[in-house]
Amino acid sequence: MDLWYTEQHSKYAQFSIKIDRQLASVKSDFQRIDVFESKGFGRILTLDGYLMVTEKDEFIYHDMITHIPMATNPNIRKVLVIGAGDGGTVRELLRYETIEHIDMVEIDEDVVKVCKEFLPFTACGLEDERVHLYFEDGLKFVRRKEGEYDLILVDSTDPFGPGEGLFTKEFYGNCYKALNETGILVNQHESVYYESYAVSMKRAHQRIKECFPIAKVYQAHIPTYPSGHWLFGFASKKYDPIQDLDTGRWNELGIKTKYYNTDLHIGAFALPNYVKEQLEDE
Ligand code: SAM
Repeated sequence: MDLWYTEQHSKYAQFSIKIDRQLASVKSDFQRIDVFESKGFGRILTLDGYLMVTEKDEFIYHDMITHIPMATNPNIRKVLVIGAGDGGTVRELLRYETIEHIDMVEIDEDVVKVCKEFLPFTACGLEDERVHLYFEDGLKFVRRKEGEYDLILVDSTDPFGPGEGLFTKEFYGNCYKALNETGILVNQHESVYYESYAVSMKRAHQRIKECFPIAKVYQAHIPTYPSGHWLFGFASKKYDPIQDLDTGRWNELGIKTKYYNTDLHIGAFALPNYVKEQLEDE
């Protein structure tokens, strides 16, 4: 009998991947963690039935959440990563020699345990000596911080369950406080194609705009995410992601990426009209 992983993307649309077998299923204090093996997408991590990572297309999300801010400010040394239990975001950050210290705050230790065992392709950097792991709620962690970080990356689940607090105005305000005077915040920003995702994206963008002088949205095409079109928020106290991008400087670093490049960096901020209209709506 064929086995399929199916996720409901809207009331009228669902997305399925043919599964070969299940490798893990853990009920943690926060969520259900499943790992599947598939021919089409390699290993797949889902949390509470929502797809987080597939081996085949994770590079797109992790390139875009990391290299856009890293190329905008070449002097990033200290980073706070919130969520990101699969390790893909940290793996990309570690490719920069300038990075000295990464605090990673993941609410669910079991996600990290499962990913270390079954997703070594993303979790490979979590033992690096520059990485400091904390298992607690990112919302609470950031409240205690002031002027410390060059960059905060919010690689969270969606705005319900444990991730809900990471989309609040209180959280964005505390991120502003936790950043130094040139600090950048990048967060996974949902999508707008399906109405239920659009509502949370618009709300999050509005809240970020109220906290930061520079607040933009950029996009990537991720085949396994709802609608295949995903957004990221870029907020900053000083840096503009296009005006301050020095393409030559980033290219000289010689970092080989599968999705990101500096042409795409600029293009990613050129949003389709229906997305722009939704952002301007607020
Ligand atoms: N890169 C993937 C993606 O595109 O969605 C995966 C995201 S990563 C697995 C999301 C992580 O955020 C989860 O492991 C979840 O436990 C964590 N998380 C959710 N809410 C959190 C919170 N309040 N504080 C810290 N981590 C949180």
